Amino acid sequence: MNRFNTSIFSLLNFICLAPYFLNAQFKTDYMSTMSNRNFHGSVFFISLLISASSNAQSDYYTLDDYAKVDKIDTHIHITTHRDAFLEQAKKDNFKLLNIVVDLSKGPEFIEEQYEYGMDQKTRHPDNLEVASSFSIKGWDDSDWVDNTLSWIEKSFKEGAVGVKVWKNIGMVFRDKNGELVMVDDPKLDRIFNYITEQNKVLIGHLGEPKNCWLPLDEMSVNNDRDYFEEHPQYHMYKHPELPSYEEQVAARDRMLEKNPDLVFVGAHMGSLEWSVDELAKRLDKFPNMSIDLAARIGQVFFQTIEDREKVRDFFIKYQDRVLYATDLADNGSMDADELQKQLHDTWLLDWQFFVTDDVMTSDRVNEKFKGLKLPKEVVDKIYSKNARKWLKMFPGQ
Ligand SMILES: [Zn+2]
Repeated sequence: MNRFNTSIFSLLNFICLAPYFLNAQFKTDYMSTMSNRNFHGSVFFISLLISASSNAQSDYYTLDDYAKVDKIDTHIHITTHRDAFLEQAKKDNFKLLNIVVDLSKGPEFIEEQYEYGMDQKTRHPDNLEVASSFSIKGWDDSDWVDNTLSWIEKSFKEGAVGVKVWKNIGMVFRDKNGELVMVDDPKLDRIFNYITEQNKVLIGHLGEPKNCWLPLDEMSVNNDRDYFEEHPQYHMYKHPELPSYEEQVAARDRMLEKNPDLVFVGAHMGSLEWSVDELAKRLDKFPNMSIDLAARIGQVFFQTIEDREKVRDFFIKYQDRVLYATDLADNGSMDADELQKQLHDTWLLDWQFFVTDDVMTSDRVNEKFKGLKLPKEVVDKIYSKNARKWLKMFPGQ
């Protein structure tokens, strides 16, 4: 409902309730003169109208509230010392979680990203937090687990909120016997136990969107089609010898079964981005699992085109389990103005989708869709309260 409809709604309420209140007001004022009664009655109804109207409006945010509301983007990557990303985030009232990721390039590459993250955190302590990662390189060495644990311990001492594992586990990295290492491998148990003991979070980008196992022309969203066209090595449709989509999700599920107390954020909608029904099943099964929306809003748009009410019901039912995130990144190469425009446009479009019921378009999907217009309290959870709860970001703020 837009503002005009909200006013009509209030007016209808007023008209429907008027006889009841007229009667009540008449009884309490029976000693007054007629003119006094009319005066009191009018004041009463005007205030009723105003309060009904403002209550209805205050249940929902508008597009104009965008910059006023505190928001956290829980999945971004800054690998540069420049402040362009943070400057725009501050303007748009966003705080950030900068996530380090193991792209199978060794511990030096992890440390380099981590240093960029910690530098940003030191300079913008109220606006950015860091999630660390660890390198899988050296997996077969006898001291790999111990070395990895010391690195994670150092990250936690320096304030990292958690640790990310990436899809190289399960899809790329092979041990000395040539076997793919899956995320439920017993060798990872001590690491996940340590994260649990330290009350930190494991963020898991495990597997890929289901589209990855489909031919390009059957993919649901344009951004996946573009990505897998550019990265054929990750396009599993072309690699039938590698584990299936179902096997990737099953390995993740087995890891969660082994670690019931581990707080887990399933990045990219837990790789169940194609179906809110499937996602709901996992959230029901694993109470310590939440999900971020990073780079999968297109799949939310796609499902909204198919069945908006189902998607809206999902976000309301699981309002405590969803973290707003984009996967926006800055490695210093893009023109700063262009980057800031991209950040602002992406964040604002998502805000419009969640808070209004506008008919919208996006380059990710080919049909129009309607915003979810979620209640304020749901929006507040998805946009910041859940990040503070699940990731313990910005304690004391
Ligand atoms: Zn990412």
